[in-house]
Amino acid sequence: MYLLTGLREQLVTYLDQQQVEEVEQAYIFASDAHEGQKRSSGDPYITHPVAVARILSEIHLDHQTIMAALLHDVIEDTEVSRDELAEKFGESVAELVEGVSKLTKIKFSTRAEAQAENFRKMMMAMVRDIRVIMIKLADRLHNMRTLGSLKTEKRRRIANETLEIYSPIANRLGIYSIREEMQALGFAALYPMRHKIIQASVKRARGNRKEIINTIKGSIYERLKKAKLSGEVIGREKDLFSIYRKMRDKKMTFFDVMDVYAFRIVTGTIDTCYRVLGQMHMLYKPVHGRFKDYIAIPKANGYQSLHTTLKGPHGLHVEVQIRTEDMQKMAEIGVAAHWLYKSNSDSNPAELKAREWMRSLIEFQENAADSIDFVENVKIDLFPDEVYVFSPDGEIISLPTGATAVDFAYFIHTDVGNSCIAAKIDRQLSPLSTPLVNGQTVEIITAQGARPNPAWLSFVITGKARANIRHYLKNLRIDEAIKLGRRLLDKALRGQKLGSFSEDDINRVITITRHKDLEDLLVAIGLGSVAAMIVAHHLNPDITDEPEHEDSRSIAIKGTEGMLVTYAKCCRPIPGDPIEGFVSTGKGIVVHRARCNNIAEYREQEDKMIPMQWAEDVSGDYPVSFRVDAKNERGVLVKVTTKLADADVSIINMQIDEHDGAHYKICFLVSVKDRVHLASIIKKIRLIPSVAKIARVSE
Ligand code: MN
Repeated sequence: MYLLTGLREQLVTYLDQQQVEEVEQAYIFASDAHEGQKRSSGDPYITHPVAVARILSEIHLDHQTIMAALLHDVIEDTEVSRDELAEKFGESVAELVEGVSKLTKIKFSTRAEAQAENFRKMMMAMVRDIRVIMIKLADRLHNMRTLGSLKTEKRRRIANETLEIYSPIANRLGIYSIREEMQALGFAALYPMRHKIIQASVKRARGNRKEIINTIKGSIYERLKKAKLSGEVIGREKDLFSIYRKMRDKKMTFFDVMDVYAFRIVTGTIDTCYRVLGQMHMLYKPVHGRFKDYIAIPKANGYQSLHTTLKGPHGLHVEVQIRTEDMQKMAEIGVAAHWLYKSNSDSNPAELKAREWMRSLIEFQENAADSIDFVENVKIDLFPDEVYVFSPDGEIISLPTGATAVDFAYFIHTDVGNSCIAAKIDRQLSPLSTPLVNGQTVEIITAQGARPNPAWLSFVITGKARANIRHYLKNLRIDEAIKLGRRLLDKALRGQKLGSFSEDDINRVITITRHKDLEDLLVAIGLGSVAAMIVAHHLNPDITDEPEHEDSRSIAIKGTEGMLVTYAKCCRPIPGDPIEGFVSTGKGIVVHRARCNNIAEYREQEDKMIPMQWAEDVSGDYPVSFRVDAKNERGVLVKVTTKLADADVSIINMQIDEHDGAHYKICFLVSVKDRVHLASIIKKIRLIPSVAKIARVSE
């Protein structure tokens, strides 16, 4: 019974006497059943189930789970039957043990070889009772901790399977503590040499870093103190596996990876998180585009935190995560918080997300044509290198990293893909080629009669989108392909027409691209096997591959049907503003506000100016900037952003600059419907007492 001492000490802190006794009975039973069996290390077998139970007791799993953990190998490795367990310990415990036994039989050597049917069984066992996977994860974690006594071959197989299958599951359930330990152990076992080298390099680098870390930490504390904010600042060291992964996947050198200094600030409330963020952005200049609000939009596994990157001393990148204590705990144990805090699931995002995921697995299962189909669906969902985005009705859709709005459209339905013309990403009109980012809401705008564009083939990344676009193009009639090819080429030539080139020029390009004649070349362009941009570049080397996209809002302006219309970024016109258009080579008509300073200069080129008017029924979201000058007081930022949210305005970008100690300027880039909408927001924000001034700005 001495083996039980540590476990019992844990259990009495959260289980009642009766339950602890039941666990003890399970221990005695398991201990007898495994009598005489030994692990590869030479230890008595029972040490393993006890260790597994111990891991689970640390996150306060219920007594049935602990009992099942102690008994988890008896069906598989001893004479004991499921019925016997059910009789002695009840149906629930027997079912858990049976579930774990089934999982244990399933072996994956690689992700690719994962047997579809086995994988499906595993996911379904997990969906029936999530405690099964909790036991399995703890089982695997302990096996990883004791990997050393196994033969090389087996050690590699288990380590590989852990990295490929189990750590992604732990990640998907938000249990970072288990995921991280699995990755560390898996990396060391699978790549011992790389592990050793990186470990030694980190050790060497540590000395220099220490001083810098302390300096930055000191500045952060000082800043927080001045702002009367409390929080704990932790310097984070990247684990070896993530250093290795960054070097491998992002092709960074060791020193590039190590030049980033990572900190975490744990503070009291959500409100303080945002205020700490404001302070950090005043302490060091934020790096553009690196701010992520996972508090407002939690990750798919429920993870919440604010992430930002700053330009620290000597230009070093400083990554800061800001979160509350609750979020910190949740980040470590994810779905397990259900047991540890007896939380109700409405307030536990990790559990909510886990349940959502379970539900989606059942749905996959119901809709899948066969196991392979099912596995495809789940894999996208489970394995790394994916983004999770939302459909307009809040459905989570996972796509591989780098997937674009067109991939999304085809994921929804082939017809949606075939007829899409534009996308709204977070209610902001965006080009179809925009790569999607976690947490975005994506809405696809389709039009009758619209058809796939061969140019999409250069940016879609999912098989489904690619196959469908090719299929469509194949069925295009040849004369249609010629027309389409000519249109694409003219567009790629940016205003220059194909007709303006000499026959010699054209023949030269036909030879270079190895086509029979011009028609043959145009067909190839129309069918997407040759990129129009490349041909355009051969014709005129000045033309390079700058992304250019039609703006589907063109119909917002009277008389511009079918014309390429873009909106000037200098003054950002919105419906209701008096506007004028300027014809610009390559950009079509650029719409400016009539009072824009730039337009005043253009007026000298009278022939290029066009008076314009908004359509009456204009709709859509239009970006506009305004600046708020506010007193440096508690929660100003939060108040402003709340007002924006209330007014149904989405923030595209935000920049905070310190004016002097007592004031700061916040520049917002938001999307609005029109002038009336903007005016109503400005009015509301002006009412906030700490706001000294608010005005629309031109850049
Ligand atoms: Mn086991």
